[in-house]
Amino acid sequence: MRGKGVEATVIVAKCCKTGKLYDNRVEKKSDGKWHFTWSFKLNQDIIKKEGYDKSTIVGAMVNDDSYKGCPYCGNSDWLHCDVCGKMNCYDGERKNQVCGWCNTYLYVYETEHYKLKGGEF
Ligand SMILES: [Zn+2]
Ligand SMILES: [Zn+2]
Repeated sequence: MRGKGVEATVIVAKCCKTGKLYDNRVEKKSDGKWHFTWSFKLNQDIIKKEGYDKSTIVGAMVNDDSYKGCPYCGNSDWLHCDVCGKMNCYDGERKNQVCGWCNTYLYVYETEHYKLKGGEF
């Protein structure tokens, strides 16, 4: 059941293929992890109005079954950048990828713990 104290926010990610931005709804569930529940094409006005562009979440993060990934290119997973802390879409298979935000060359490694920034765009 969803109680009143649901901790949820929106993290902005960049599509690595189109360069477009999209929102990801993240919710902290009873297991203590941040669950990515759904993603949608960016509405920049709402993001700025709600202050989501300044949100940062820390901890274990997992994708729920309802999470469909990037709404532009269909990549089902995402990649966190160690350098700028932001989120890129990711196909789940590549061993490396360039961050769409800061152009850092990233090596993909398996972890569940991240610090993600919402993205000041
Ligand atoms: Zn994409
Ligand atoms: Zn980066």
